[in-house]
Amino acid sequence: MAPLRPRPERRRVRVTGTVQGVGFRPFVYREAVALDLAGFVLNDSSGVLIEVEGDEARVAELCRLLSSSAPPLARVTSVHWDVLAEAGGYEGFRIIESEAGQVPNAAVSPDSATCGDCLSEVVEPGNRRYGYPFTNCTNCGPRYTIVLSVPYDRPATTMAGFKMCAECQAEYDDPADRRFHAQPNACAVCGPRIALYDPGRRLLSASGAALAALAEMLCAGKILAVKGIGGYHLAADATDRGAVAELRRRKARDDKPFALMVADLEAARELCVLDPDAEAALISVARPIVLARRKPGTAVAEAVAPGVDDLGLMLPYTPFHHLLMAEVRRPLVMSSGNRSDDPIAHADEEAFARLGPLVDAVLAHDRPIHIRCDDSVVRATGRRLQMVRRSRGFAPEAFTLTGRARRQVLAVGAELKNTVSVAKESQLVCSHHIGDLEHLATFEAFVQATSHLCRLFGIEPDVVAHDMHPEYLSTKFALDLDFEPFAVQHHHAHIASCLVDHARTGTVLGIAFDGLGYGTDATMWGGEFLVADFDGFERVGHLRPVALPGGAAAIREPWRMALTWTAAALGAEAATRLGEKLDPRWEQVLRIALGEGGSGPSVLTSSAGRLFDAVAALLGLRKKVTYEGQAAIELEMLARPVPRDEAPRYQADIVEGAGAGLADVLDPAPLVAAVLEELGRGSDPSVVAAGFHEGLGRATAALGARLARRHGLDTVALSGGVFQNVRFSDIVEDALVAEGLTVLVHRDVPPNDGGISVGQAAIAALGAGPGAA
Ligand SMILES: [Zn+2]
Ligand SMILES: [Zn+2]
Ligand SMILES: [Zn+2]
Repeated sequence: MAPLRPRPERRRVRVTGTVQGVGFRPFVYREAVALDLAGFVLNDSSGVLIEVEGDEARVAELCRLLSSSAPPLARVTSVHWDVLAEAGGYEGFRIIESEAGQVPNAAVSPDSATCGDCLSEVVEPGNRRYGYPFTNCTNCGPRYTIVLSVPYDRPATTMAGFKMCAECQAEYDDPADRRFHAQPNACAVCGPRIALYDPGRRLLSASGAALAALAEMLCAGKILAVKGIGGYHLAADATDRGAVAELRRRKARDDKPFALMVADLEAARELCVLDPDAEAALISVARPIVLARRKPGTAVAEAVAPGVDDLGLMLPYTPFHHLLMAEVRRPLVMSSGNRSDDPIAHADEEAFARLGPLVDAVLAHDRPIHIRCDDSVVRATGRRLQMVRRSRGFAPEAFTLTGRARRQVLAVGAELKNTVSVAKESQLVCSHHIGDLEHLATFEAFVQATSHLCRLFGIEPDVVAHDMHPEYLSTKFALDLDFEPFAVQHHHAHIASCLVDHARTGTVLGIAFDGLGYGTDATMWGGEFLVADFDGFERVGHLRPVALPGGAAAIREPWRMALTWTAAALGAEAATRLGEKLDPRWEQVLRIALGEGGSGPSVLTSSAGRLFDAVAALLGLRKKVTYEGQAAIELEMLARPVPRDEAPRYQADIVEGAGAGLADVLDPAPLVAAVLEELGRGSDPSVVAAGFHEGLGRATAALGARLARRHGLDTVALSGGVFQNVRFSDIVEDALVAEGLTVLVHRDVPPNDGGISVGQAAIAALGAGPGAA
C-alpha cells in the first residue's frame, strides 16, 4: 500500500452568483482556517475570487463546501478553479478589501427576512439589540431597496449617513462575527429610529413609545401609514369590520383583496388551509404574501377580501414587524401604501403628501428607501408554488440563461403589471414589480427603475426590447432611447418567459392565454398556439376572433363580451333577448358585435381572458369589474365546490386551417351555447362554471396536442394571465400529460404580464435578434 502523505496543491477559485453582501467571504475564511489552508478571498466585479493552498484533499473539500454549505442568502451559480503550478507562499488565510471602480457584474441580493439569530437578540431583555427594530446581520436585512450603486458597500447604501458606534464597528470589522461587513449593521445607539407623526407631520412620539402608541391606535380601530423595507403600508386591525370598511373607503378600493400580516405560522393556520408548499413559502426568507383558502368562521372581517374565498397572508419580515405583531396580537391589514392604483409610497415627503389625508397617523423611520418594492405574491396551487407578483425578497435575483447572451439587453416590459429586465453574458435580471404604467407616478418609477437596473448590473444595452403595441408607454419610451429598438410580440414573450422559468431551450408548442396583447396583424391576440423558441414563432392556432366592443370599455364591463359571445354562439335574436336584460347601451354594442357598427370596423380579439369575462357575466357574476381579472377569478371560485370528475364536459369545436394564415381555430361558441342552455334550464351556476372550465381546458389541450404532434414537438409551455386560474391550468396540464407530452407550467416567473420583460430579454439576448428574418 502506498503511504498516505499529504500532497500540497494551490488553486485559484472563481465563485459567481449572489455572493456579495451575504457573508460569503467570512464563510470562506472560517472554513479555510478550519481546514488549515492558506491564501485569500476577495470580492471583485465578477463575484468572489479565492486563492488557496494546502493539502490536496482539504483544498478539494473547501471547493466542495463553497456550493454545498454556502451562507443562507448566497446563491452560488458556478464554482470554477484552476490548479496553479507554483507555490503561493501565503501567510495564513486573509480577507482582502474589494477593489472599486470596475464594471459591476456581481449580483446584489434581494431583501431578506430577519434571521433567527437576530430575532432572538431583539426579544432578549438585556441584549444590546433588545427591542431594536432595525437589527440585521449578513444573513438577513435590507439589500436591494437600500443599494444606490455597486460594489455593495456601506457608502453606496442609504445607510451611508449613519456612522457606526464603536461596538457596531467592532462587529463589522471582525471576520469571525455574524456582522462582519454587514452593510446595514446598526443598533439603537447609532442606527435608524422609528417615530410616530400626526398626518400633518408633527412628531407624536419616538422609538419604543412610538411602537406602543402605534399598536394602541391600531387596536382602537385607527388607520395608519407604516414605513417598512420597500415602502409604506396602510395598516388596520383586520378583525375590526369598521376599520376595514373605512380603509376601503379612504383607499378608494372597492373589491380588490387586502393582504394580511399575522404573527407566525400558527396564526396563519388559524385563518387559512395551508399545504406544505404554502407553509414553506410563508416562512421563507423572501416572506411573500401567500394566497390560500380561508377557513370559515374566523375573526377576519369579510371586507378584507369580498367575494373571494382566498386570503393573502404574510409573516413579519423585519424586527419592527415582529415587535408590532407581538404588541397587537391580532392579524393586521398591511396593504400597499397607495391610493387606488398609484405606486406604493416610499419617500417620506411623498408618504405625508399622498397618504397623510388617508390616515390617522404615520409611523416613519429615518433610513431612506432607495428603490420602492412591493410585497411579492405567490400561490400554492396544490402542485407547485407559482409566482403571481415577483418583487421584494426575489428581485433582483438573476435567472441563469441557457446560453450566452449575444448582446446586452434592456427589456422594458408590458403596460400593466410592468417589470423591466436586463441580460448579459449568462444572466438575466428582472426588476421588482413596477405596476400599471398608465399612471404618471408609476411611469416615473419605471424610468427610475430602468436606469437603476442598468447601473447596478453594468448594462450598456446593444438593443432595447419592447412590446409591439405602439401605444404602450414602455414602447414609446424604448423608441425614444438611443439604442437599437427590437419589437417582441407579446405572446411570444410570454412563452419565452416560461422557457426561462424552466431553463429550457429549443422549440416548444406554446399556449398563451391572457387578456389582450398586440398581434402581428394589428388585432388583439390572447388565445394563441405558437410554435416558438428564442429565435421566433409561428402562430399555428388561435381562439376564434370576435369583436371587442368599446375597446378598453370591454375590459371594464364584461357584459359587452357576454353579448358578443352570445351573438357569436346563438345569433342576433338570442343576443337581443339577453341585451335587453343586461344594459341600456346593449343595442349599440350588439351592432358592433355583429359587425354592423356605423362607427367603423371594430377591433377583433382572440382573447381567452375576454371569453372568461363573458361567461362570468352570463353566470350573473359581474357586469362590471373594479380590478383586472376580477370576473375570471370569481368564475374560478364559483366552480370550486364542484369536483372535477363531477363536472359536465361541454364541447368546443376545432376547425382545421380556418384561421389567420391557415392556423387552426378553437371555436368556443358551442361551449357558450351550452352555458346559456344550462342557465335557461335553471342549472346550478357552479356546475355550469365547472363545465365551462372542463370544456375549454380539454379542447385547448386537444388542439395543443394535435399541433405539437404535427410539428414534431414533445413539450408544451403554458403562459399568460389566464393560467393563473389554477383549475383551468390543471385541466390543460392533465390532458396534455395524458397525451404523453411534457408540460411547462410557470413557477418563478409570473404567468401574467409581470413576466413579459423576462421573455423579451431572453428573446433579444439569445435569439437571432434584430435584423433576423
Ligand atoms: Zn440576522
Ligand atoms: Zn451601533
Ligand atoms: Zn399578457
